[in-house]
Amino acid sequence: MKDEQFPEFREALLSWFAKFQRDLPWRRSQDPYRIWISEIMLQQTRVAAVLPYFERFLERFPDVRALAEAPQEEVLRLWSGLGYYGRARNLHQAAKQIVASHGGQFPRSKSEVLQLAGIGEYTAAAILSMAFDEPAAVLDGNVARVLARLEAVRGDLREPQRWRALQTRADELLERKVPGDWNQALMELGAMLCPPRAPRCLLCPVRQFCAARKLGIAEELPQKRKKRAPAAVELAAAVFLDADRNSLVLPPPASSAESQTDDYVPSLVAKLWHFPTVPAGGHPETALKSFLAASLPLENAKVLRLEALGKVRHTVTYRRITVWPFLVRTKIVPRLTGAKRIALDQILDLPISNLTRKVARAALNHETAV
Ligand code: SF4
Repeated sequence: MKDEQFPEFREALLSWFAKFQRDLPWRRSQDPYRIWISEIMLQQTRVAAVLPYFERFLERFPDVRALAEAPQEEVLRLWSGLGYYGRARNLHQAAKQIVASHGGQFPRSKSEVLQLAGIGEYTAAAILSMAFDEPAAVLDGNVARVLARLEAVRGDLREPQRWRALQTRADELLERKVPGDWNQALMELGAMLCPPRAPRCLLCPVRQFCAARKLGIAEELPQKRKKRAPAAVELAAAVFLDADRNSLVLPPPASSAESQTDDYVPSLVAKLWHFPTVPAGGHPETALKSFLAASLPLENAKVLRLEALGKVRHTVTYRRITVWPFLVRTKIVPRLTGAKRIALDQILDLPISNLTRKVARAALNHETAV
């Protein structure tokens, strides 16, 4: 696209956005707190999945002080099921930073925003443009795809030089009078008409500017990145059950540093409350028995009877996880510092990962069937 076409291009896209944009709750105000929460929730997560979480989160934590003062467990509980829990921990940490260093007001300078936990270039640009009308152009995978098609850019878009060129293009195209609307319009175009598969070029308000459409290669762009080979992970988990139907769950690590070094419980599971879990090593029952004997204050650990609960499958990015859960019936659930002794069905109300949820459900279904 030539520079002299920019005004016409901007006009076409902004008019379409004004007419067809979705009514999303975070678009109804310029409150940086709401925009920030939505942007973090929307990372790697679809709008439809975010909507109920956003409403619940805002109801419980209506402003940055409420979020900063909440216990981390409560923040994780409200996040439970949304995945990528590091986002919730960072959000909580950043809320504390905003209260401690900025008097509870979201900072307005990019360098200060980038100091906040969990905020990178994209999120900083999104918040600053949408909340404060700062002329900052966003570039994420969605916007990059649209720009790559408009300019018929071939190759891996995440390759650093190509990504920098796309950021330069995004900066040049930015409508500086309404940067928040502009960024959202580009993102909306990517989400609604120019998705990764089957772009709807006939409905596109900027099709006359689009090089990929003219060349008939819109569907081929962006070109595929080399995918990481899927990795199979096998785990074994112990679901204790005593006569009062209580079970045992272990706490998430107190700090992210601890989670890095804690290799006996795979970090995939241990970031939230979880059942005692170990790598299965090809022999899930044996691996679990040795672990329980070595780690828990159990009498007669060696003769524990483990009831197999089938297998639970789960996929996280490139990892294909299989968990072999076992029911371990005991008179009394062992006591451990920091661990929770809790009714099996109440585990579903704790901040737990979807994987732990599946294991708990497998145990509950087994108990109902017995
Ligand atoms: Fe995307 Fe098609 Fe519009 Fe080009 S014309 S921006 S490929 S929807």
